[in-house]
Amino acid sequence: MALIDLSGISKTYAVGKDIAVKALKSIDLKIEQGEFVALMGPSGSGKSTLLAILGMLDRSDGGSYKLNGKEISALPDHEAAMLRNRFFGFIFQSFNLLPRLDILTNVLLPFIYSPEGITQKSRQKVASLMERVGLADRLRHSPTEISGGQQQRVAVVRAIANDPLVILADEPTGNLDSKSTEDIINMLVELNKNGNTIIMVTHNPDLAKYATRVLVLKDGQIIDDKIQASVKPGKTVYNTEFGKKKNGLSISPDSIKNYVKEALLSLKANKLRSFLSIIGVMIGVAAVIAMLAIGTGAKTAVEKSLSNLGTNLLMVSTSRRSGGISLGSDAVTRFNFEDLAALKKIEGVKNAIPYVNGSAQAVYGGRNWRTSIVGTETEYQSIKDSVPANGRFFTKSEVATRAKVAVIGSNVAKELFLEENPIGKSIRINRINFQVVGVLPEKGSAGFQNMDDQIIVPVTTAMYRLIGTDYINRFDVQAENPEVLSEIEAAIPATLGKLHRLQESQYEQIDVRNMADIQKAMNETIQTLTYLLGSIAAVSLLVGGIGIMNIMLVIVMERTREIGLRKALGAQNSDIMTQFLVEGTLICLIGGIIGILFGTSIAMIMSAIFGWNTLVSGGSVILAFSFSIFTGIVFSLWPARRAARLLPIEALRYE
Ligand code: ADP
Ligand code: MG
Repeated sequence: MALIDLSGISKTYAVGKDIAVKALKSIDLKIEQGEFVALMGPSGSGKSTLLAILGMLDRSDGGSYKLNGKEISALPDHEAAMLRNRFFGFIFQSFNLLPRLDILTNVLLPFIYSPEGITQKSRQKVASLMERVGLADRLRHSPTEISGGQQQRVAVVRAIANDPLVILADEPTGNLDSKSTEDIINMLVELNKNGNTIIMVTHNPDLAKYATRVLVLKDGQIIDDKIQASVKPGKTVYNTEFGKKKNGLSISPDSIKNYVKEALLSLKANKLRSFLSIIGVMIGVAAVIAMLAIGTGAKTAVEKSLSNLGTNLLMVSTSRRSGGISLGSDAVTRFNFEDLAALKKIEGVKNAIPYVNGSAQAVYGGRNWRTSIVGTETEYQSIKDSVPANGRFFTKSEVATRAKVAVIGSNVAKELFLEENPIGKSIRINRINFQVVGVLPEKGSAGFQNMDDQIIVPVTTAMYRLIGTDYINRFDVQAENPEVLSEIEAAIPATLGKLHRLQESQYEQIDVRNMADIQKAMNETIQTLTYLLGSIAAVSLLVGGIGIMNIMLVIVMERTREIGLRKALGAQNSDIMTQFLVEGTLICLIGGIIGILFGTSIAMIMSAIFGWNTLVSGGSVILAFSFSIFTGIVFSLWPARRAARLLPIEALRYE
């Protein structure tokens, strides 16, 4: 049984729409183990095409190809790859060494794609072969640092490292000077003497002399077949068994380590390009982190300030909407203490307090501070959860007697008293002496005003001594529980409207706002804002991802020949796919990590500048991190698939 048995092998290339080139016309050929075949013939006669079909780099259109008796012309891709890895060693005219990898890694490539991987044994084998070709001291060099003759010697080592059954060489000396040519041909002769089957394409009749058999092709047909020497049985016995099937996806810790290493080398080989694509992802991830942080921060800030306004509260004021113009203190309806008494009598109302607002200059010692004045009643401290942290609130009798006492906000205390304790001290408000009886707890901003920057005095004092008005600006009404809020809300305009003898159509002058409604509206606004920010961030991540896809397509195109070579050495489609997925994902991962750091700094800077409470949560970091990996995989998927699906022979021919 012949090692190689072709019958009726043909190959036609379609050139353009309707031109077909018949590169091989029904070739019948038997090659025995141990033969050294020189394949000759004019340019374009089909030599390379035949060699590619023999090496499973290409497929014939029809006919049968038996290797050691087994029909292999219609094997699926992954089995064909396994055959290339196990049984064929390729030597190319242009060497096809990968310049990014050092020489040792280049010659170890066939083992990466073998089922066993790189083993101690394979390392030893490669080391001794490199010794024999006199390049043992160049293992860590780049292939670009040695001469063409040396490169081809390395390529021969790569071809034979995995003990192939058949060595296929396409004009291996075509790019070499005569001395190197001699070196290479001697190596091939020696390999043949050891039992290797060799098929070599050559134009050079001097080289053909070394072969045991010369085949001449013309126009896709064998026109001459001459045996020059008998074949002796080789010393080495070659394994002609088909190996075990390597399973689908090649993901082991070892291979992933290798992929990551190669991806890093590739990123390093093109620093500027890698940097730019990393930046793209980084901006996207940073945007996600910062936007989420700002959104969450704003939400918590608003929630806190809303809770400062009190719960179960209705705010009653005279409408400023009447006639579409601001009526301010000229509103038709002016509140008074009768209104307050009526509000307290509405069913379900727990309490109600009046507000009189103004502003004034407060003076203590040499310092003065302009701040807002709030006149109210004793219940303020319970309704607004503002029991003084230091001192006390004013009492009901102090309200009744228009006492000149003041409870000051923490900010006012700081401005007027610095470190001094304000309790019992006398301050001048609009040139009237007030005694400070309490300092309010620190509250922060409450939506409309800074709760810490105000002075609270009895409502009567404010009206008749300090501001000089005879009406109340607004009321806060506290409900007994949230369920009755809306009933009370509905009852208030009528109750007050009747007191002021308003027509029903004028009830709108009395404006009632439900704090819960405000809270809900605010929350919805914030939520919308967060989504908006989030989608802006997602768009920038998308743009980064498209950048990745773009760069991956360029990388795949640039490395088409490399992909062809890897496939010739036995890389499965899944190997190629994994390699490019790892590379794309790595770019995104690096971008993602830098982006998280960058986004966190942005969030911190924003909070420092605007005094926001920005929050970078662990959740958003994990989200951004997985998002960037996801982006990497999704956007390299298509380029990686394209790479994986390249036909080996076409990839190798790519210029
Ligand atoms: P040789 O190696 O003997 O010079 P080839 O096997 O490379 O010849 O080519 C045989 C014929 O097939 C030539 O006419 C060549 O133009 C044609 N051919 C080879 N590859 C392709 C291809 N990918 N597409 C179209 N025509 C091709
Ligand atoms: Mg050729």
